[in-house]
Amino acid sequence: MTEPHRDRDLTRRLKAKAVELGFDRVGVAGAQTPPDYDRFRAWLDAGRAAGMQYMERHAEARAHPDRVFEEVRSVVMVSMVYGEPSDEPPRPSLGKIARYARGRDYHQVLRARLAELFDWLKAERPEVEGRAVVDTAPLLERDFGRLAGLGWIGKNTLLIDRRLGSFTFLGALLVDLDLEPDSPHVTSHCGTCTRCLDACPTGAFDGPYQLDAGRCISYWTIEHRGPIPDEQADRLDGWVFGCDVCQDVCPWNRKAPAGRVGELDAREEWIDPDLVEWLNRSKGDWKRALRGSALDRARRVGLVRNAALALGSARDEGATAALIDRLSDRGEDPVVRGAAAWALGRIGSATAREALEWFRDDDDAALREAVARALESGAGVRPSSAGC
Ligand code: SF4
Repeated sequence: MTEPHRDRDLTRRLKAKAVELGFDRVGVAGAQTPPDYDRFRAWLDAGRAAGMQYMERHAEARAHPDRVFEEVRSVVMVSMVYGEPSDEPPRPSLGKIARYARGRDYHQVLRARLAELFDWLKAERPEVEGRAVVDTAPLLERDFGRLAGLGWIGKNTLLIDRRLGSFTFLGALLVDLDLEPDSPHVTSHCGTCTRCLDACPTGAFDGPYQLDAGRCISYWTIEHRGPIPDEQADRLDGWVFGCDVCQDVCPWNRKAPAGRVGELDAREEWIDPDLVEWLNRSKGDWKRALRGSALDRARRVGLVRNAALALGSARDEGATAALIDRLSDRGEDPVVRGAAAWALGRIGSATAREALEWFRDDDDAALREAVARALESGAGVRPSSAGC
């Protein structure tokens, strides 16, 4: 079999164009079965994906990028740094939002730039066909990042770039050209470090490279729909969307640069948000606030649920009136009403308990149950979070 002709010069210029468009790193991998596919399957089979059924549904498609774009010959992997490290601890009654979600929705930002990159390539090679992917198709992006030489997969399961750290977004351009591939990153630079595993507030790692989504704060606050079980609710550690702990403690992020794409910079409203205001905010205002934001993934219901749980966990008496309003609103989503009941139970003041008593015999069976549990739990139950 003859080796395909690989266009070295085009690859070099494509990479330069990607950097010009704002990407911080670019690498190329050949179209192949990602080496971590078997590990991914084993993780799924062990039930570690919690309620993320879409992972199971599209599992087979991750076996090869040709399931995403049939004619693929090369996978161009790009990464982009986001945000800026901050050492300031959040105030107790305020919620924490993962750094990646504080700016404009990264899907939009990366997709627009990948489209520009593809347009440039099309001008160079009019016959080229391809597909851009930003978390939107079943592709093992981290593994392809490693294959394209961008970094190694750390014990926290994230791709780590020696220079950029792990606060990066990944995107891929799948094309039907034989570009010059990079050497895969074969070494790991975690060494004997276990900081991420030790710092996780919920002990979500079964061991290095083994994340149990069912114990991960990011899963519960972003992906999970419906009520959050009581034992998890007390362990969210003030996070209302995602969690950064396993990245914050990673030494490779200590000297990482700040992001250089302004659209990804944190918006004021997503830094130390006022959670009581979140509870009181109208649905129309939520719709406007979530436009163009990655927080929309959790929808208003998930975010208000998380806010109620964070306030309850912090036993924030100042939130009592807003929580009672959510509980009393019969037009409110049952998930939010249940979370408000849980939070009032945790606050446990006379006013909170009195409000709960009003709903002991509510028409909604699930709410009745949530109220009964909240009244039983009462005050004095300390959060089990270890903090970080
Ligand atoms: Fe690796 Fe340590 Fe970073 Fe975890 S904290 S990913 S073990 S270097």
